[in-house]
Order: sequence, then structure tokens, then C-alpha cells
Amino acid sequence: MKTLIITLVTLASQFGHSWTLNSQYPDQRGWAQRPLVFHVNRTNCPADLDVFLDQAVELWNSVPGSSLKVEIGSDTTNTIGQLWAGSATDVPMIACDPNFSATASVDGNSIPGVGFLRGSSLNPVTNGGLLLNVESGADANINQLSDTLVAVVVAHEIGHVLGIGHTSDKSALMYYDATAKQNLALSQDDRDAVSFLYPRDEISNLDLIGGCGAIQSLARGSGPGAPPWGGNSLGLIGGLYLAYWVFRQLRRRERLPVL
Ligand SMILES: [Zn+2]
Repeated sequence: MKTLIITLVTLASQFGHSWTLNSQYPDQRGWAQRPLVFHVNRTNCPADLDVFLDQAVELWNSVPGSSLKVEIGSDTTNTIGQLWAGSATDVPMIACDPNFSATASVDGNSIPGVGFLRGSSLNPVTNGGLLLNVESGADANINQLSDTLVAVVVAHEIGHVLGIGHTSDKSALMYYDATAKQNLALSQDDRDAVSFLYPRDEISNLDLIGGCGAIQSLARGSGPGAPPWGGNSLGLIGGLYLAYWVFRQLRRRERLPVL
């Protein structure tokens, strides 16, 4: 009996001891859109694709430390050729490719999908999406895989489209080998990655910091009854005098005879 090894690929990632960016550009910080709406070209896709897409969306939206909001939007007629060339307009886009091996230049017998980003050094994320393997006769055609494995593959490739590369953490969804995955879940490493790329909006905390600053400036002597030169100036003068006094003491000691 043939043992199928499912390998998940990323086209451009930096390897490290934990999560990495799916980009050759170190400034890549994910997509700017909120919510981030994926569009699906359903040609050649399995009828139950939405089950897996919904699971993946729910998973990536479940990280408390992240502002990420992913949605599945309207279908698109943009083609796989346009997506791969970077000219698709309904992006990020999801498509099922019957010519998967040739399109992505990968082994369709071991690789069930690819998730990728296109961009430049000035704008690291301008385009991207995921292609799922529906190649006839290919061992890693998603129609040949278990539901659990397809769920893992779809969520993993969406992770790549979000901007996350592979990790060395074997418990993570973004580990490159999905063969041993028993269930669909995020590890702390996956959560750290998505929280870095899509951090929570902390505007309310910024307001609080502004309020503290205002109170501090009052305490420093700009309020009524404070000396006209302010508390900070007084402290500076005191500090200079102290330094002068210490200097004088040292000079005096130097004049003492050595016995
Ligand atoms: Zn991968």
C-alpha cells in the first residue's frame, strides 16, 4: 500500500525556530483591508468547499490578540492565469486548479495546495490567493484526501495568503508537513504570527496615555501657584548645584597632604 506524504509548500518564506513571514520582504505586514474578503472562482471546485472555507475563516478569526477579520465574499470570474500572473482584481482569490502541477511548478502527488502573495519592496502585499489541487490522477488531489486533511490544507494555505510562512513548530498549523495532523487547530505559534501581522487596534489605550501625560505636565509646574520657571527647571538648578558641591569637595580632598 502506498503511503501518501502530504507536504505543504510556501513559495517564499524565511525559515527560523518559530513562525516566519511568507515574503521576501521583511516589512511585509499582511493585507491592509478590514475585513479581508476572499473571492472564490468555483470552477472545478468540490461541492463542499464552503464547509472547509468556513472552518478556516472561523479559525483565523478566533485569535483574541489579533484584529484580523476574514470573510468569504462574492464569487469571481477572475481566472487562475490572472491570479498566478498577479493581474486578478478580486483578491485575495481562491481557485481549484485541474492543471495544478504545471501552474505552480510543484509535485501534485504530494502537494495539495499553494498559498502565495505578490508584492514589491514598497508594497509587499498587492495580490495573492490560493490554488487547490484538483488535478486528475494526482495523489494529493484534495478530492482524494480525508475531510480533516482538506480542512487543514485549506486553513494552512489561507495562513500563507495572510502572510505567514512555515514554522519549525510541529504542533502548529503552519508546519510544512500536514500528514500527521489529527484535527484542525491553531497553536500558540500560529496565534503569535497572526497577532504580529494583524495586531489589535489599541486606540483606547492611546487615549489613556494622552490623559496621563496631561496630568504629568500639570504636576511639573504649569499649574497655578507653581514657580514661573517650573518644577523641572528647579530640579535642574538643584542638580547642577549638587554637582558643583561634590566637585568642590573632591578638589579640597586633593589638596590634603598624603601621609
Ligand atoms: Zn505551507
